[in-house]
Amino acid sequence: RELRSDQLLELARRAVALGRSAATTGEVTTKIPRLAAVDRSAFGLAVTTVDGAELGVGDSTAQFSLQSLTKLFALVALLRVEPGAWMHVGWAPTELGYGSVTELERAAGRPRNPFVNAGALIVTDRLLHHTGSAVDTVAALICDLSGDPAVASDAAVSASEAAADHRNRALAHVLAEHGRLLNDVDAVLAHYYAQCAITGSALGMARAGRFLADRRLHEQVLDSDNVRRINAVLLTSGMYGAAGDIAYRVGLPAKSGVGGGVLAALPGVGTVCAWSPPLDAEGNSVGGVAAIEEFARTSGWSVF
Ligand code: GLU
Repeated sequence: RELRSDQLLELARRAVALGRSAATTGEVTTKIPRLAAVDRSAFGLAVTTVDGAELGVGDSTAQFSLQSLTKLFALVALLRVEPGAWMHVGWAPTELGYGSVTELERAAGRPRNPFVNAGALIVTDRLLHHTGSAVDTVAALICDLSGDPAVASDAAVSASEAAADHRNRALAHVLAEHGRLLNDVDAVLAHYYAQCAITGSALGMARAGRFLADRRLHEQVLDSDNVRRINAVLLTSGMYGAAGDIAYRVGLPAKSGVGGGVLAALPGVGTVCAWSPPLDAEGNSVGGVAAIEEFARTSGWSVF
């Protein structure tokens, strides 16, 4: 059913109220020490539709650390310059989680998909190879798609992850051992941390994700076949180990990041992005998922 803007706004407000109370049970990430300083009560939600409606509730224009949300845009940027890149990153769901070294080792260094960290490192590596700067290419694409000039990589967040990280380093070395990287390991890691440290707002991300929903944008951003594939892989792998749970509860392709952002799309209809820093055990925003679940339920948004 078609909802008017004022009806969508009312549903978004109710979803935020529910999300805010759910968020009290989560914990802000400790993996990136700098992100622990973020206000845990911040909450933003934004919706865009293919008909041109746009709305924001709460802190919807505040900048936050995009982290793994950037993996979606890095993949888009890579597919633009290397249409055959899927064969290097795969498209199967993970069984062992987004940072699993074991899974990568068992597969002789072949990542399961572009959204587990090993796959995202491959994407960053290949973008660096093709464009000369993965972080600049991804930031420019997000800037362009969101129309938000404030989008930029936060050097303090990037340095904080670089200082605290062991797991991505381990993954990158396993990839290098199997000959899967085109660049030096340290250069790939530096670009990966900087790419994850790109900032954006909930409204900017809802706008940037519009190509997932609006078929009229397909040929401008990426060809239709690849947009369909990306939506499929978001549904099966965008939310780490919780993808099945999210498909069941929400029913939308979605991507989350440890900064507390969650972006979801309903092809043909619109996008919704929530930001709330406290995370659950899987690394997904507790309040963000709860708010999107409520919004999807009350608006009737579902791919099923
Ligand atoms: N930079 C983070 C990491 O690689 C991103 C993780 C995430 O947002 O899920 O661990």
